Amino acid sequence: MNIRQLISRAAWGLLFMLATACQTAPVDLVTPGPVPLAAASPAATPTPVLPPGGALVIAPVPATATATTSPAPTATPTPTEPADRQPRRLARETTTATRLPPVPTATRPANVRELHTPILMYHYLSTPPSNADAIRLDLSVTPERFEQQVAYFAAQGFQTVKLQTLYDAVSKGAPLPPKTVVFTFDDGYEDAYLNAVPILQKYHFIGTFYVVTNFVGRPGYLTWGQIVEMAQAGMDIQSHSVSHIPLKGKTVEVLQKEMAQSKRLLEQMIGQPVNFFCYPSGQYDTLAMTVLQDTGYLSAVTTRGGVWENEALPFEWPRIRIHGHDQLSDLLKRLRYPELAP
Ligand SMILES: [Zn+2]
Repeated sequence: MNIRQLISRAAWGLLFMLATACQTAPVDLVTPGPVPLAAASPAATPTPVLPPGGALVIAPVPATATATTSPAPTATPTPTEPADRQPRRLARETTTATRLPPVPTATRPANVRELHTPILMYHYLSTPPSNADAIRLDLSVTPERFEQQVAYFAAQGFQTVKLQTLYDAVSKGAPLPPKTVVFTFDDGYEDAYLNAVPILQKYHFIGTFYVVTNFVGRPGYLTWGQIVEMAQAGMDIQSHSVSHIPLKGKTVEVLQKEMAQSKRLLEQMIGQPVNFFCYPSGQYDTLAMTVLQDTGYLSAVTTRGGVWENEALPFEWPRIRIHGHDQLSDLLKRLRYPELAP
């Protein structure tokens, strides 16, 4: 190797080192890591008050849309975790215009009207079958226990009202009996007609029954004839969607079908307004609330625990869940909590 070859090899070596250094050294310094999106978003904010009429433009629902395959009712066996304790979703997951993250009710506006009428939540009103699983047992209140609970409220001088009456009291300050309780029954099971209504009537009470329109007439569910009869007897019939799918993270089209079709069909069948909604499995988000309002609903109940009806949060009324194993004393303890998460 002569001098020239040595110099050439050294030069190439130097060039190689420089090139390597340029490739590797700066990489970690220049490329920023992903910005944690959650950090950029504000902490849990109060649920916005939807403007009257809403800004959302909704396409009409085709009248021909009909029943699709529906899941079995999926009422949750235990109280839903309060929304403000659920892990916050990253904004990255919700970038499309029709998907918005749930908006937890972290705080309730204090300078508006708020009532504290207990809204009780029942599902099955019958003795569960011998092979019932834990979920079914939890959702099933026997007629005997139900009557004990109803008798207690009657003896204490409580009165029942339709949701419209409660809503008018919350939104306009309309009069309400001094002691009011609302009995609600989810999913439209047949035992509502067979067991709940006769007991309610025995004590001159009414109940609110949330019907899933696609389930009507199926084995174990109410028939249209029973629903009409209940409405004519003064019971409150309201909507629990068309097919009982969770309504969180759904498109406007899906939401509108579930909300508008069920409302329209129920109104046609019973000949009375249907202005109140119950979220299937307690699942909802901001868009669901907006579409509800634009569809003409006035208010909705959740599966969150609580005893308050805030004027500014009509689409998030909480309820008191009644478990199958509850004694009357368990129920009464829950009546006392105005804020609560059980
Ligand atoms: Zn349900």
